[in-house]
Amino acid sequence: MDNNSLVANWQQVNQQVNDACVQMGGKALSKKVTLLAVSKTKPADMIAVLAKQGQRDFGENYLQEAIEKIKGLQTQSETFDIVWHYIGHIQRNKTRDIAEHFDWVQTLERDIIAKRLNDQRPTDMAPLNVLIQINIDDEDSKSGCLPEALPNLITAIKQYERLQLRGLMIIPDKAGTDAFQRTKQLFEEIKESHPELTEWDTLSMGMTNDMSDAIANGSTMVRVGTAIFGVRD
Ligand SMILES: *Cc1c(COP(=O)(O)O)cnc(C)c1O
Repeated sequence: MDNNSLVANWQQVNQQVNDACVQMGGKALSKKVTLLAVSKTKPADMIAVLAKQGQRDFGENYLQEAIEKIKGLQTQSETFDIVWHYIGHIQRNKTRDIAEHFDWVQTLERDIIAKRLNDQRPTDMAPLNVLIQINIDDEDSKSGCLPEALPNLITAIKQYERLQLRGLMIIPDKAGTDAFQRTKQLFEEIKESHPELTEWDTLSMGMTNDMSDAIANGSTMVRVGTAIFGVRD
């Protein structure tokens, strides 16, 4: 894909996000929906092109590939103001690399991983922003924390000073307004019952095929890959 098409795609996705917000009416307009550009398998050059256009948040799934891109962009003469989100599965022996290179982790589902990320977050970096991935479909094959296990996980994460709990994330199995609505409700319940979570502000749901539906149902962050970067190999 040439750079012009890339920028055009990105602008179109921004427009779509904006349209979905407008459809929600005045209430949603004041709330910002963040566009996370999911750049997995795509080269650092493409990230640089969009960063220059003003795209700030990028999501990566594969750790080695991500770290190469992060380091590569850091060593260029230009400085890029990028916020990096880890959105892949977290292997226990990879937590240090995640803690040392990312600003956000969206796929936290277990205390053992939270504790490691907390212990390994370098002291000269800001606390790591974390989202708890929820298994809202309750299916065996899926990853994510089950809603009934959520209270204990929140209690655990709250003790960790190097982590900042920001909200919830889902990757629903079934395309589904229903999954979005149930996650939104959970998100609001926690917000009400935990006023001490002052940074609880992020509900990450919606991808290329369902971003408008997700926004209509309360998403504050959509994670979009294909619609921006084209299909992956
Ligand atoms: C790949 C991926 C996306 C982006 O998916 P598209 O359908 O390409 O927009 C979003 N979230 C997660 C967790 C992903 O792994």
